[in-house]
Amino acid sequence: MSDAKTTMAAPVHLMAPPEPPKPHKGCAVCKALVRERVEAARLGDWSRVADVNVEIGRHRAGRHK
Ligand SMILES: [Zn+2]
Repeated sequence: MSDAKTTMAAPVHLMAPPEPPKPHKGCAVCKALVRERVEAARLGDWSRVADVNVEIGRHRAGRHK
């Protein structure tokens, strides 16, 4: 872990989408964000997938502690 800043491993993107963050059960916002993420993944828009993942993480940190 101490070499994390100097060792840059190239990201490998296969066809499989990254593991989705888990939506909070019964939360409409989570549901909408996950849906958006799935849609972006289907279009192969990985930068958008990453963006939505960040959004989900931010939303969860604020709403579902
Ligand atoms: Zn939520």
